Amino acid sequence: MSDHEIDASVLIGSLKTEYKTIEAMVKIYCKDHHGSKMLCKECVDFLNYALTKLDRCPYGEEKPTCKLCPIHCYKADYKERSRIIMRYSGPKMLYHHPILAIRHLVAGKKPVPVKPAPNASNRHKRKLNQQ
Ligand SMILES: [Zn+2]
Repeated sequence: MSDHEIDASVLIGSLKTEYKTIEAMVKIYCKDHHGSKMLCKECVDFLNYALTKLDRCPYGEEKPTCKLCPIHCYKADYKERSRIIMRYSGPKMLYHHPILAIRHLVAGKKPVPVKPAPNASNRHKRKLNQQ
């Protein structure tokens, strides 16, 4: 948390794990492509975007892995960045972050829920807890 301004503590359970997986992949990608020890501005922007999407995902904790999800919630340019980052960092994850990588592989085997349950999003639950 200290190296950039993203606050992943708003996420619960599997969504937080998923965020950590994305963050780890972006870090690998950024280090190798943007030469920054910390994350560069562009990658921080990408992670903030990913965090917002996880927070608002209508599936909430039932969220399928993004690859299998029937809802395409990323804007075209972020989707393209995501694809490039995943393709580069995905294979390296098993070596750098084996537990996150295996969890993600297992999550990819779960059946995709047909329809999100109402009010399942992390954001919705968060707002409820604030009241
Ligand atoms: Zn970067």
